Amino acid sequence: MRDIYPDFYREFKCIANRCEDSCCKDWDIDVDSETEKFYNTVNSPLGDKIRSLTYTDEYGERVFKSSDGRCPFWNDDMLCDIYIGLGEEHLSRTCANFPRVKIDFGDFRENILSFACPEAARFMLKSDRSSYADFGGDYELESSEYDEDNMSFLLKARNRSVELLTNEDEPFAYRLADCLEFNAQVQSLLDGNEPSPLADGNADGGTEFIFDMHKDFEIMSDTWKQALTKTAVRADELKISADFERDFEKFALYYIYRYYLESVNSNDVMYSVKRIVCAYLVTGKMDALFAEKGYPLSRMRILQRYSKEVEHSYDNTEALNAEFDRDSRFEAENLIALLENEV
Ligand code: SF4
Repeated sequence: MRDIYPDFYREFKCIANRCEDSCCKDWDIDVDSETEKFYNTVNSPLGDKIRSLTYTDEYGERVFKSSDGRCPFWNDDMLCDIYIGLGEEHLSRTCANFPRVKIDFGDFRENILSFACPEAARFMLKSDRSSYADFGGDYELESSEYDEDNMSFLLKARNRSVELLTNEDEPFAYRLADCLEFNAQVQSLLDGNEPSPLADGNADGGTEFIFDMHKDFEIMSDTWKQALTKTAVRADELKISADFERDFEKFALYYIYRYYLESVNSNDVMYSVKRIVCAYLVTGKMDALFAEKGYPLSRMRILQRYSKEVEHSYDNTEALNAEFDRDSRFEAENLIALLENEV
């Protein structure tokens, strides 16, 4: 098994009570069975509290019962009572690992950090393409978990997508449009069809439908809901800045490395690219609005919060993919037309 890391991975350290958001906020905390087995042996008031606040959620997962959107063990000093009382080694796997993400392909494993953690987001915003130099190189492909030719094809397609997204000769909206067009051809090949040029797209309705969809999502924070609503009202007049695009490139790189190879199972390379388009338009317009107001929420927090609210929600991601399948406004040519209107 070969492990691959971006160069900033090992420098990351949780900043605990100095964190401006926290993974102990807004999310249900999964408790894996091994950790729960240990908790069942803890004979103390903390052990009793852990047992009384662990339940099975609607997905069948064992989780801590949050109260007011907070993990019940996140104390008033913004520190973890389980960490303090039982030690780091007895945190549930979710708590111990976050924001570290392992994407396992059997004979190689890509390790990245999640953008939903503010400190990890800061590391990624300081990074550049060279931080991921070890990704997509000379992987040995011999796993029985996937078709080797297909994986080799997808790795090449991902490398080309990264080249397109980091093409400094073009504004980011054009890079995304190029990436969509390229991946539409990749998708044709995956579907066993001859690639053909895309038809002219139509973007007459502007970006309103993308904002409407995001407003309908399951939203955890009132601040995010208000930011989305205020941005939606002026979305088509707000201009995404070149400065934002430099930072968004880092988010797009993170996203493509984290999700593109899911296509080895889904056989769909368009989902991940279309989700980047949605993230670009929503966060880019929100950034433009917040720039006018002196950034009540910083740019890092806009991108981090998008990751937490949308990317990290299974339901919201499924809803996005379902809309891509259902709504013709998400066809590649129509999204390209929408992006071209941004330049
Ligand atoms: S979000 Fe990141 S920095 Fe904040 S508490 Fe969680 S792991 Fe630590």
